[in-house]
Amino acid sequence: MDYSLLVEVYQRIDATTKRLEITDYLVDLFKRTPVNLIDKVVYLTQGKLYPDYMGIELGIAEKLAIKAIAMAAGTSESAVDKTVKELGDIGEAAAKFMGKRSQATLFQESLTVEKVYDGLDRIAKASGEGAQDLKIKILSGLLANASPNEAKYLVRTVTGRLRLGVADMTILDALAIAFCGSKDYRPILERAYNLSSDLGGVAKAVAEGGAEGVKGFHVVVGKPIRPMLAERLTSAEEILSKIGGKAIAEYKYDGERLQIHKQADQVTIFSRRLENITHHYPDVCELARKHIKAKEAIIEAEGVAINPDSGEMLPFQELMHRRRKYGIEEAMEQYPIALFCFDLLYADGKDYTLKTLPERRGRLEKIIEKSDRVQLSQAIITDSVEELEKFFEKAIEDGCEGVVVKSMGSDSIYQAGARGWLWIKYKRDYKSVLTDTVDLVAVGAFHGRGKRAGTYGALLMAAYDKKEDVFRTVCKVGTGFTDEDLAKLPELFKNYVIPHRHARVESQLEADVWFVPAVVLEIVGAEITLSPVHTCAMDRIRAGSGLAIRFPRFTGRYRTDKAPEDATTVDEIVEMYFRQLKKIEAEA
Ligand code: ATP
Repeated sequence: MDYSLLVEVYQRIDATTKRLEITDYLVDLFKRTPVNLIDKVVYLTQGKLYPDYMGIELGIAEKLAIKAIAMAAGTSESAVDKTVKELGDIGEAAAKFMGKRSQATLFQESLTVEKVYDGLDRIAKASGEGAQDLKIKILSGLLANASPNEAKYLVRTVTGRLRLGVADMTILDALAIAFCGSKDYRPILERAYNLSSDLGGVAKAVAEGGAEGVKGFHVVVGKPIRPMLAERLTSAEEILSKIGGKAIAEYKYDGERLQIHKQADQVTIFSRRLENITHHYPDVCELARKHIKAKEAIIEAEGVAINPDSGEMLPFQELMHRRRKYGIEEAMEQYPIALFCFDLLYADGKDYTLKTLPERRGRLEKIIEKSDRVQLSQAIITDSVEELEKFFEKAIEDGCEGVVVKSMGSDSIYQAGARGWLWIKYKRDYKSVLTDTVDLVAVGAFHGRGKRAGTYGALLMAAYDKKEDVFRTVCKVGTGFTDEDLAKLPELFKNYVIPHRHARVESQLEADVWFVPAVVLEIVGAEITLSPVHTCAMDRIRAGSGLAIRFPRFTGRYRTDKAPEDATTVDEIVEMYFRQLKKIEAEA
């Protein structure tokens, strides 16, 4: 197949902005493309060589492309460089130089799609010593045989600047018309695409076998599935009525979405954008091997950075330590990940994408062996607005972004690649910063685990209620303690340990160990939120809710100068909460 044929179509597409016209040009192109080349033509038209998830990128540096043009045109690099600057487009510059060549060097051999693809493929894969020279050589070899127009598109492609603006859906429309006879077949093709994330693969299947050829598509371990996404509403009431009265509500964890593919011991992890991010998460691979009790499976989970000693969830930013090239080992130790699994797409030969959520979750329950680090997403089934509100508050307080409410009806399939009303997210719109520190009284503690076994993992902290002369809980804090602090905690509290909750402590939480309110610590948090479990200001702002400090951290200061009655009061916390709201309103 002549490359010039592709280039003609590119030119036409470049000259229009009308989607229908673009579709017509593509239909014509696909019909003229030999079946064995259709996948390559599809990738090339999107400026690619492979589906994105393979991570093989075209895009050589402009400097190298300039060298290649100079070499092919028999001119100097500086001349090419100057023209690129003048024209503002390296493709146009390539066309100009290729047009200037003497007759003798023109068109020695016509360019075919096969040759172009093969050349670009070798350029994309060249690595190591001598790779740059090799890339320049291959590109200039292609350019030497290119017409000016071919050179323009070839150079745009290889530098990652093709940008024809052909959307995935336009390609699917064109494939449906070209090989099934009508656009009505697009949903079948779209589903195949959503399950495989591979437009070229879909093109090949439909070109070979028509609509029937595509119907056989199913999920494949190792090929990412385009993720199902959620719509958004802003009240619990609206959400429940939209979703049919009763639903599963899950914590919306603030981490990274991980699509985990497991095949025996081989684990591959894809991001929400379907990049292969396996190398960022060796620990998740290990967890998947150990805790997914199916030989083959595809599950979705949110990976969240946690405090290894207390199990508290940390803010999303802490995950970014995983994005670096070096030091993954240290990041793994400092910021280990907990997995909260929320969906199952495939297990041991069975495609679950068309099963209902209760069926998917039911099977997920069975194949996940739970541990400290691997759990199912926290969930409730509810038909009560009030219960949903409480669950939402608890989610926020625990460090989540909110909740995702999911349909459990007979139509609650996994809608790959779609943002629909089967999942509705309920988030808070604002983020705020609590600038003040607070001084809180330790009234209880929870046993530590891991490195903290034998000492306390987290302390239960309270504010002072002056009016009632009691201490009301406002957070659990396990972060901010140095190893030294930790070692000294049992000693520090030794004289205050009592066998039951102190009479002046109001708490709905059951601590492992209770203290006499005595020790005051300085705490800094991200913000104050409503809480269904903490008793600070209970019922004052909303019935059934108190206030909590989110993401609390010990500043390192023991306020030995303060008696428990000198601690931050409940009234002060209420005031801080309103001040924070005012600030948010002002910002909005
Ligand atoms: P956002 O920025 O709100 O995360 P988004 O476009 O990435 O938006 P949405 O579909 O709108 O994604 O929201 C769902 C996202 O929430 C998922 O991509 C996933 O990363 C995350 N998430 C956390 N917990 C859950 C859960 N229990 N179920 C589904 N998604 C969850």
